[in-house]
Amino acid sequence: MTTTQATAAADLKALAEQAGRDLEDASALEILRWAVDTFGEGFCVTSSMEDAVVAHLASRVRPGVDVVFLDTGYHFEETIGTRDAVDAVMDVNVITLTPRQTVAEQDAEYGPKLHDRDPDLCCALRKVKPLEEGLTRYGAWATGLRRDESPTRANTPVVGWDEKRQKVKVSPIARWTQDDVDAYVAEHGVLTNPLLMDGYTSVGCAPCTRRVLEGEDARAGRWAGRAKTECGLHG
Ligand code: SF4
Repeated sequence: MTTTQATAAADLKALAEQAGRDLEDASALEILRWAVDTFGEGFCVTSSMEDAVVAHLASRVRPGVDVVFLDTGYHFEETIGTRDAVDAVMDVNVITLTPRQTVAEQDAEYGPKLHDRDPDLCCALRKVKPLEEGLTRYGAWATGLRRDESPTRANTPVVGWDEKRQKVKVSPIARWTQDDVDAYVAEHGVLTNPLLMDGYTSVGCAPCTRRVLEGEDARAGRWAGRAKTECGLHG
C-alpha cells in the first residue's frame, strides 16, 4: 500500500468510526441514506438470500442498488430460488459472484468434501476470496448482521471499518431483533428464503447448515459440532 493509499484508508476509517457513533441510534433507513449519500455507486448491499430485508431497505433509499450474492456452488435450491425471485421482482441490481473454481474443479485439486476436512480453506476459496475481488469497485458495503444473532456479533457497529478489505462496512439492522425483522417482512411483504419456514434460522451452504434446536441461538445450525462460527466474511 502506498502512502497516499494509506492516508486515504485512514481517512475512510475515521469517517466510518465517526458515522458509527453518530448513527448508533438512527433508523436503518437513515443509516442507509448516509451510506448512499456518501458513496453513491460505490455502495452495495451483500445478501446471503436468507431474506431480502436489507436489499428492500436499500432499494427504498436508492432504487436499483447493487445487491451482491455469493454463489458458492453449495447453496440450497431454495437459496438460488430466492436470489432469482429478488432479481425478478425487486428494484435492485443483483450481481452474482462465483469462486474461481467450480466444485468439481476444487474436488479435483483438493479432494472431495473439503468443507468437512478443512472448512476454513473451503470458505476462503468459495466465499472470502470471491467477495474480496467482487467488492474491489465499492468503497462501502452493507450487511444484514444483527447483534442478537450470536455472541460473536454482539458488538457489531451500525457503521464500522472493514480492516481486511479496507472498506466501510454498514450494518443498518445491527440493532434489530428477530421480531423487528419479522415485523418488517410482514409489513412490506419482503421475500424470504422458504427454509426459514422449515426449521432453519440461518441459511448458509447446504453441507454446513442444519436446522436449529429449541433454545439454540440463531446461528447454531451453521458448522454445527465445530468451533467455527463465521465464514471469514465478517471477522
Ligand atoms: Fe465450503 Fe461450508 Fe464454507 Fe460453504 S460454508 S464455503 S460449503 S466450508
